[in-house]
Amino acid sequence: MVDTAASSQTAEKTTYGLPKPIPAYYPHPGSKLYADKEFYDKIANSKKTLVKEYRCPPRSGIAFQVPAKSVFRLTTPEGPQVLDLNIWNLHNPRERFWAARTRQLHSAHVSTYDRLWSNLPYLRPLVTITGDSLNARHDEWGGRAHDTLGTRCDPYVDKLISGEDNDLHCHSNLTRAILPYGLTEFDVHDVLNVFQITGLTENDQYFMEACPATKDDYFEMFAEQDLLVAISACPGGDLSQWGWGETDDNAQTMTDCCRPLGVEIYSIEEEVLEGWTAPECPQYKGNHGLKGPSS
Ligand SMILES: [Zn+2]
Repeated sequence: MVDTAASSQTAEKTTYGLPKPIPAYYPHPGSKLYADKEFYDKIANSKKTLVKEYRCPPRSGIAFQVPAKSVFRLTTPEGPQVLDLNIWNLHNPRERFWAARTRQLHSAHVSTYDRLWSNLPYLRPLVTITGDSLNARHDEWGGRAHDTLGTRCDPYVDKLISGEDNDLHCHSNLTRAILPYGLTEFDVHDVLNVFQITGLTENDQYFMEACPATKDDYFEMFAEQDLLVAISACPGGDLSQWGWGETDDNAQTMTDCCRPLGVEIYSIEEEVLEGWTAPECPQYKGNHGLKGPSS
């Protein structure tokens, strides 16, 4: 029995007679926050030419470039496997995926038409999601697919909890993958957990369920900018087992539930993109209230 007493939250609710809240950020016609569904449907359904393909071996990470205006697809070619995703502006790695703002603007779990936003002061879409074969899956425990709630597994929290030194965590896999691009572990950021089913318990605690992806599942995005993308095939595999597989007692069990990931990059025809413009940063002209030197 798992002791959930560690949560500060209670399972019981109190009635205060309050009106039902509405989302803090909601769509309004013409909003720049939300994708033009018709336009992105056109991209999703257009003829695509496969330009590049990559395979990420189990329990490791890879990084690759995706040119603006192309589509890239993440896959689970041999069955269930969770994927930790990081994205940067290829030309300026200070601009990178901002999970928290994406969660507010769209939802804690993302699917088709949602966008993955960059951090301040850039705040513009890095990608728009054009396909999700798990189709905004929502199960009986509140588990949903592709979350911005959690982050990558890392060797520091593992050491804190277990006292062990494990080297194949997603944080480390992503770190090794981006080294050839001149980036370091300080560039690794909060991830999108792709193909992962997560939610919050009645005590508001993060939970993960086994990955339901099959060899035919995919998660597809349109690149709004030139991107550097890194993915990690989590050493937790399909999350059907507990552990990391770096100790003798669970090495075989964990290895058995770890599988590779696939990446496919497609070009799409220019005419499909008619009307598309590169996303701009908000033109905030203030200086955070700071004044220049007085004359
Ligand atoms: Zn991981």
